[in-house]
Amino acid sequence: MRKVIVLFVISLAISCGKKAKKANGKLNVVTTTTMITDLVKNIGGDKLDVKGLMGAGVDPHLYKASEGDVSKLFNADVVIYNGLHLEGKLEEVFEKMEHQNKKTIVASNAIDKNNLISSELFASNYDPHIWFDLSNWTKITSYVASKLAEIDAKNADFYKKNAKIYLDKLSALNKQVENKINELPEEKRILVTAHDAFNYFGRQHKFNVVGLQGLSTATEAGVQDVQKLAKFIIENEVKAIFVESSVPKRTIEALQEAVKSKGQEVVIGGTLYSDALGSAGTEEGTYIGMYKANVSTIVNALK
Ligand code: ZN
Repeated sequence: MRKVIVLFVISLAISCGKKAKKANGKLNVVTTTTMITDLVKNIGGDKLDVKGLMGAGVDPHLYKASEGDVSKLFNADVVIYNGLHLEGKLEEVFEKMEHQNKKTIVASNAIDKNNLISSELFASNYDPHIWFDLSNWTKITSYVASKLAEIDAKNADFYKKNAKIYLDKLSALNKQVENKINELPEEKRILVTAHDAFNYFGRQHKFNVVGLQGLSTATEAGVQDVQKLAKFIIENEVKAIFVESSVPKRTIEALQEAVKSKGQEVVIGGTLYSDALGSAGTEEGTYIGMYKANVSTIVNALK
């Protein structure tokens, strides 16, 4: 039934879509995750009207489009999303948009397949959490800016200039987080979280990353997974494990309990931002602020 409603809204949105051109002449851009929304706002400044579908704490794996979202998507001049099935429940809408020749920018298209982490667990065959490798985010910044410049040629120089400013900030961020992470000897770089969002982070910063739930939050962790991971934590003397802002706490709390039941202690080292940024208007509500906050939470808890 839901499918029928969504399809109906899609056709309604397409038939009304033509009148969407804004009086202020700005491109109407709809983005999915908070990471992409923040990036596009940095590149687009006041030349774009950016509407992000997902807010702080929202899990993109489970996010379903409301009827309002579907009309936003189909009335947009440009839709920008992560891809690689991160926004798993929106795939049907994305496919429809492709058939309608809607202008889309897929962030993951910026990354060469050889630089993606393979995963049989995901429908795309790749791990979609690409934003945690800063070299990926750098490529995505340049890619999105050049695509926007193509679509909106009169503001091309503006987008490219903003991208350059943002790339300089990313390069400063990279140095800063490398310095912080170097406080942690490599044998202590074990990151245990609720789901496997941090494989790209681990690849860049030499962490052994273990997620309780696998790559997507759509599959729940079983009792066996919890017991196995509890054993791993004890054997490797892991000091802290981490909650994620977009995943319910209870899975990590169950893991902590399992360690306790074996007579050992592990602390909850804090909350990491995995698939969503912090609240809008706070430092953690930006990609750069989120990255710094994660790194200091991780390093301070594992030191
Ligand atoms: Zn995820």
